[in-house]
Amino acid sequence: MKVLFVASEVAPYSKTGGLGDIAAALPAALAARGHQVQVVTPRYGSISTASLGPLQTPLTLQFPFGSVIARFRNLQLAEGLQLSFVEEETYFGSRPGLYGHGDDARRFGFFAMAALSQARFTGFDPDVVHLNDWQPGLAALAMRTSFESRARCITTIHNIAFQGNFPSSVVPELGVPWAVFNPQGSEFHGHFSFLKTALVYSHALTTVSPNYALEIQTREGGSGLDGLLRHRRSDLTGILNGIDDQEWDPNRDPHLPAPYSRDDISGKEHCTRALLEEFGLDPGPRGPVFGSVGRMSDQKGVELWQQVVQQQLARGGYAVVLGSGEKALQDQWLELAGRFPGRLGVKIGFDEGVAHRVEAGSDFFVMPSKFEPCGLNQMYSLRYGTVPIVRAVGGLKDTVVDLAEPEATGIVFKAYSARALAEACDRAWALWIDAPRLFAVRRRGMAQDFSWNHSAAQYEAVYAAPKKV
Ligand code: ADP
Repeated sequence: MKVLFVASEVAPYSKTGGLGDIAAALPAALAARGHQVQVVTPRYGSISTASLGPLQTPLTLQFPFGSVIARFRNLQLAEGLQLSFVEEETYFGSRPGLYGHGDDARRFGFFAMAALSQARFTGFDPDVVHLNDWQPGLAALAMRTSFESRARCITTIHNIAFQGNFPSSVVPELGVPWAVFNPQGSEFHGHFSFLKTALVYSHALTTVSPNYALEIQTREGGSGLDGLLRHRRSDLTGILNGIDDQEWDPNRDPHLPAPYSRDDISGKEHCTRALLEEFGLDPGPRGPVFGSVGRMSDQKGVELWQQVVQQQLARGGYAVVLGSGEKALQDQWLELAGRFPGRLGVKIGFDEGVAHRVEAGSDFFVMPSKFEPCGLNQMYSLRYGTVPIVRAVGGLKDTVVDLAEPEATGIVFKAYSARALAEACDRAWALWIDAPRLFAVRRRGMAQDFSWNHSAAQYEAVYAAPKKV
């Protein structure tokens, strides 16, 4: 199949979260399975043009707000896999960050149309146009109106909390027909919604775990789009994200001070010692190390962990924290680190190497998320023999099996409360002192297969299904 894959971030060029990882890995897995995949993404100012190909023939796109010239730079990443960067200085090249600019509707409306136009211009006639999250959502509508296409349009929801809702003034600006600006179409409570547009006008929808596919159909989990998703439930499939098992392999990870594997896990202790040193923690008698990595946002349950971590430190545990995000949460971590010197290490920032070392050096990995579409870190943890402590939500529930089960790989708790997390930590301590059991749980986690090949086969099935709407 020929797949046009449109995503507003692609690792390692741009990434604010899981989307960037997936937009790199899934197209690669599809290409390896024999498909022709063209990935289109913006060239943000932070991406150097040095290693990208030369500028291709420019295309002029007409919008009611004016014409915009799109240029492209292509990179052939592998057989059947081309990455194409959309170049536009005003909208992308000269801007700091990826999102959050006042004219995001124009920026990403342009991006969506540029992706479709380039494919047409270069004669890449896709069987499937695969859109990701709200940013390219306008393409789903365009394919049914101004930009008629034979392709099947698929939208993947990576996080339903991000919807791209804009004032109705963007409707005429983007050339969207007023006829679709109603609750059955693109309107969401008086706003023009990029995500809703994608969900209404795509032929099929996917999201990133089976459990999240159910949750987003509920009032609590649907962020206002649950009614629409219930209506489209027969077109909605939950497909678990894979992980890049080349990059995340403790036996071949260049970021680690010592390799280890399921057959010989001894190097992990070395990684732990080095991690404690890297975070400036006491080398003394070894208590369990609780790690966490991720965006510091309400979604991730950071506040719960900040409450519960103090007991774990007081009873002889360690905690290492890597992340960035909301200032209040960052400040609270720094304040706590000041109160627990030698026991709690905090790094504010985004650092791949440190993330790998936290995964390897921790004994337990804490993810008390309020909601979690799929989550990648718990899968990295399993692979690294680090026992995940997760809330039973979204993809966390699909990927971690609780200690109470015979096939246990981690610790799962239900309620979103400090008490439930504290109880989960008590169970972690009980496991910690039961060395043979801890060893067995670790080894079982390390044997899990979260490779992309399996997920890619499920995407293929969605791509190949006949068009219904
Ligand atoms: P989300 O997409 O909601 O942020 P995921 O767990 O799906 O959460 O993916 C987050 C990805 O970003 C993972 O690969 C994680 O390791 C990485 N990541 C998040 N914060 C940081 C950080 N501060 N430094 C390095 N990597 C990070």
